[in-house]
Amino acid sequence: MNTGSEELLRRSDLLHELQEGLWIADQEGLIVFANRTLARLLGYESPEKLVGKFWREFFFSPDTSRLGLSKTRTETESLMINREGQPVPVSLVITSQTLGETNWYLGSVIPTSNQPSADSVEWLSRQAAEYAPDAICFIENDQIVYCNHRLEELTGYSSPQLGRMNLHQLLTPSDRKIISSLLDPHRLFTPLQHEIKIQTRTGREVECQLRIVPLNSDSRNILLCYLRDISELKQAERMRTDFLAMVSHDLRTPLAAIKEALSLLTETGAQRLEEKERRYLQIAREEMDRLNRMLDNLIEASRIETGKVVLKLQAVDLNQLLNIALDTLSLLITKKKLKIDRHIPAKLPPVLGDSDRLLRVFINLLDNAIKYSPSNGVIKVAIGFVDPEAPVLSESTILANTGYLEVTITDQGPGIPAEFLDRIFGKFERVDPYGPGIGLGLAIVRSIIELHHGKVWARSHIGAGASFSFILPIKEEKQ
Ligand code: ADP
Repeated sequence: MNTGSEELLRRSDLLHELQEGLWIADQEGLIVFANRTLARLLGYESPEKLVGKFWREFFFSPDTSRLGLSKTRTETESLMINREGQPVPVSLVITSQTLGETNWYLGSVIPTSNQPSADSVEWLSRQAAEYAPDAICFIENDQIVYCNHRLEELTGYSSPQLGRMNLHQLLTPSDRKIISSLLDPHRLFTPLQHEIKIQTRTGREVECQLRIVPLNSDSRNILLCYLRDISELKQAERMRTDFLAMVSHDLRTPLAAIKEALSLLTETGAQRLEEKERRYLQIAREEMDRLNRMLDNLIEASRIETGKVVLKLQAVDLNQLLNIALDTLSLLITKKKLKIDRHIPAKLPPVLGDSDRLLRVFINLLDNAIKYSPSNGVIKVAIGFVDPEAPVLSESTILANTGYLEVTITDQGPGIPAEFLDRIFGKFERVDPYGPGIGLGLAIVRSIIELHHGKVWARSHIGAGASFSFILPIKEEKQ
């Protein structure tokens, strides 16, 4: 188009008065002419404000990606975005013209009614997505092809910018690797959830819960992603753990003194005390031990939370750790008249681990097994080799080409409802919120086991007891 014809177009009031919004774009997609109807439709004072912008910027990404611009004429129902970021449904016609050497695009839009009608469920669904409190996007062929307003708010990028990005570009580098393995639509068949951090346009990191739902059809593989900002929730959780850890630290000193006094009293005064007084003393010691275990868990949870845990790896004999744990809990075991049934091979190789931390794992699991066992019950502890072909060894967090030992602790307690079997490993999660304990023991067990490249899980049938298993890597001889 030469300057003369552009001038003619600009002067032509006729084009400005048409009821269609019109624009002409060069082959790069930059608008060289727009009429007043288009400017009004999109909320701009004058058509000149649109000149120099990419015409695709005014469309939601899924629409533009569907426009087959290889064709000379495309006609479709589409969705534009006005200056306020609001969607404007339109009927769109795009034609491409070649003049001389150059390709030009002529676009025209007529707004379609915003009124919901029987056949505009799609429009209503879009509104629901658009104003949802969670950020939502669709991913197809690794690209974000639709995003709602909340994703723009959360990331600081505009919808057209997001339309040119993929999800990885929104994540912190450490989360990119994790998500890559999860995002393959050909391998993802069920929804999955993950905590990740996104990086906003200004570089700020925001903790989010990411939920990915595969929407696979014969012709398209689309991933529906929800992102929920959980940074405030996480901050509150951290403050709760920090506060509890601080209090626990301060309580340790006076508690150690009381514990020492109780031990001395038991040793020196036992003969002089009456049966009833000895029982009271016994209760005081048990409760003191329980309090100490709770404090240890609180302090450990805070260390894990702040990433301060450094494992001191060495060869650890699990049988020996089990003995120490059972010794620590002997008062409780005797009180409930529990039998410990061991199934452990005579020769067991050591695992590679931090013995203090693995002792905590045994104590936390056995403490629960004791707590929930009926009096005179049996707690079974089995240790054995994991079958090298077992599916659990092919999980991504497990060390490749490494032998593993499996420990299973089974009790005869009330069991755990199926919907809680995974949840109870979360912080402060308990089946009965009014029951004993604070819900940190299993969260610590999981963190410690995962730091060792292991895995822990629970199995249970209501009324038929619970069983907790964990696997740990065997220490190779040369290590
Ligand atoms: P706490 O025991 O301090 O509450 P845990 O994290 O150790 O915290 O356990 C979380 C929850 O899991 C418990 O409150 C209980 O509801 C359930 N739970 C754990 N172990 C068992 C078990 N052996 N039998 C039944 N329920 C259990």
